[in-house]
This record gives sequence, structure tokens and C-alpha cells, in this order.
Amino acid sequence: MHGTRGPGQPRSGSYAGGVSDDGAQAVGDVAAERAEEMAALRRAQADLADVDRALARLDDGTYGTCEACGVAIPDEVLADAPATRACPEHAAAVAGRTADGPAGGAQI
Ligand SMILES: [Zn+2]
Repeated sequence: MHGTRGPGQPRSGSYAGGVSDDGAQAVGDVAAERAEEMAALRRAQADLADVDRALARLDDGTYGTCEACGVAIPDEVLADAPATRACPEHAAAVAGRTADGPAGGAQI
């Protein structure tokens, strides 16, 4: 009574291989998606911190001026990135200061 389906079964090994390939690919996709989401989340948190800072600067009246030299930031820059904290000349220096941490960044 057993073994009636014998001829069809020997291929189960290759089936398993195919399934595990698909599975590995799906896991990779999920990991990549999650990494993208984490990156997006980090960007959003950084943006939010910038907006918080911009709001604080609105309160103390320094919004729209460069944190490094105090010059007025061009309107077109503020229109494009309202949370901008520095004039184009100091944008990299100010951004680098927060991204790399408190130490260093005074190379310019
Ligand atoms: Zn400046």
C-alpha cells in the first residue's frame, strides 16, 4: 500500500532547493527594504531635528541667518530648504559639524 507515488517523489529534493532559493531572495529583499526604511527614518529624524532647531531660531530671532557668520541666508535657499542653518559658503561646515559630532569640523 505504501510507495504508490514513488516515481513522482525523487524530485522533492530539487523542489526544496528551489524553495530555499526563493526564500533566501525574499529574506534579502526584506532586509534591503528594512535598511531603506531605517535610512528614511534616520533622514526624517534628522530633518525633524533641523525643523526643531529652525523653530527655536524663529523664537530667538536668528532664523534665516548663517550660524557661522551671521549673514542673511538667501531667500531661494530658504525656500528650497526652510531649515537651512548656514549661508551657502558655510553650509558644508555647519552640516559637517552636526553629522561628524562635536569634535573636529573646523578644517575650513
Ligand atoms: Zn556663513
